[in-house]
Amino acid sequence: MSRSHELFERACRVIPGGVNSPVRACRSVGCEPLFIASGSGARITDADGNTYVDYVQSWGPLLLGHAHPAVTKAVAEAAGKGTSYGAPCEAEVVLAEMILEALPKMDMVRMVNSGTEAAMSALRLARGVTGRAKVVKFDGGYHGHGDAFLAAAGSGVATFSIPGTPGVPDAVVADTLLAPYNDLAAVKGLFERFGPEIAAVIVEPAAGNMGLVLPEPGFLEGLRETCSKAGSLLILDEVITGFRASYNGAQGRFGIDPDLTVLGKIIGCGLPVGAYAGKRRYMERISPMGGIYQAGTLSGNPLAMAAGIAGLGVLKGADYLGLEGRVEALCADLEGILRGKGIDVVINRLASMFTMFFCKGAVRNFAEAKAVDTERYARFYRHARACGVNLAPSAFEVAMPSFAHGVEDFDALRRVAETFGG
Ligand code: PLP
Repeated sequence: MSRSHELFERACRVIPGGVNSPVRACRSVGCEPLFIASGSGARITDADGNTYVDYVQSWGPLLLGHAHPAVTKAVAEAAGKGTSYGAPCEAEVVLAEMILEALPKMDMVRMVNSGTEAAMSALRLARGVTGRAKVVKFDGGYHGHGDAFLAAAGSGVATFSIPGTPGVPDAVVADTLLAPYNDLAAVKGLFERFGPEIAAVIVEPAAGNMGLVLPEPGFLEGLRETCSKAGSLLILDEVITGFRASYNGAQGRFGIDPDLTVLGKIIGCGLPVGAYAGKRRYMERISPMGGIYQAGTLSGNPLAMAAGIAGLGVLKGADYLGLEGRVEALCADLEGILRGKGIDVVINRLASMFTMFFCKGAVRNFAEAKAVDTERYARFYRHARACGVNLAPSAFEVAMPSFAHGVEDFDALRRVAETFGG
C-alpha cells in the first residue's frame, strides 16, 4: 500500500473528502491525490519518494517554483523575528509599495489572507461606495467561495457541475447578475435593465477557472466603458493574472484601468495572502478611514509579507518574455503532437499559463469550455502522472509552469503527449 493511499485513508476519516480544498481530491480524473512531502524548483516529491515535474505550482502562486531560495530565506528570517504581531510592521508597507509600483493605476492596497477574502472585501467596498447592491459576474468566473460569487462559478464548482451550492440563501445571490464571458452585448443588456442598481462588474481579465479563456479584443475595454457610463465600479480579479500575465498584471498587459483590483497567489509566493487595491477615493472609504468595515487578525502577516517582498523582488528582474517564449513553443508542440495523432485539442495560452482543451473549436466562454472531452482529459492526466508529470486534476484548470522549469521539464510534458494513447 502506498504511503499516499495510507495518508488519504487517514485524511478521509478526519477531513471532509480527505482534502482542504475540493479539486485536490482528484475525483474528476478518477485518482486518489498524491500527498506531497517536498517541492524544489519545478519538481515535487510525494510521500512515497516519487518525483514529478509540477505544472500546478500550488495553483499559481509559485511563479518562481517551489522553495525558491530567496523566498525561503526571507520567510525563515522573518519567522525568527516572530510569526505575527497584530500591529503594523515595515514589511506591510514595503509590499504595498511594491504592488502599487507594479499596478500604477491603483493608489492604495489593503492586505488580507486569501483571494476569497480579497474578492469579498472588494465587493463590499464597491457596494459601500455606490450604495448599490447588484454585481455582474461571468458564467464560469471564479472569485473564491464568498456567497455572492457562488452563482454559476468556475474552478471546483465547475469541476463538480454544481450550479451554485447549498448553504447560500437565494436572497444572497439574488443580486448576482450573470453574463457569458466575452459577451459584451449581454452585459449591456443587464445594464439597460438594472444599471442604476449595479455596484460593480467583477471579471477575471483572462478567465482562469473554466480553463484559460482569453478576453476577446474590445471585451475588457467595453466593460470599462459600460461601468464608467453607469457609475458602477470595474473590479479586475487578478488573483491568477497578477504578476503572471506580466509583472504589471493583466491590467498592464492589456492596458485596462480598473477601479479595484483583487490579488492573491503570487503576491505571497505560496504563503496565505490576498489583497485588494483601488483608486484612492474608494480605498479611503475603508475602515478606519471610512465606514466600510473590513479587518483581519493575521492580515499583513510578517511571514507572508516577507515571502511576497522577496518573490516580487526576484520577479521584477525576471525574463517574462523568455518564459513566455518557452511556453509558447511547448504549446505549439503539444498541439502538433496530439493533432498529429488525430486528437482534437485546442490550447489557450496567456504568458506562461495555458489550458489544453480536448475539443475541436475555439473556447471563448464557459458553455464552450464545458463541452470539452473531460474523460479524455482524465486519461491524459493519469498518463502524465504515470510518466512523472503532475497536471491540474481537472479539465477546467490552468497549467502554470514557473521560471524554474527547464528544458527537460518542458520536454517531459512533450513526451507525455507523444506517448498518449488518446
Ligand atoms: N479569484 C480567482 C481568479 C481565483 O482563481 C481564486 C482561486 O483560485 C480566487 C479568487 C480565490 O483565491 P483563494 O483560493 O486564495 O481564496
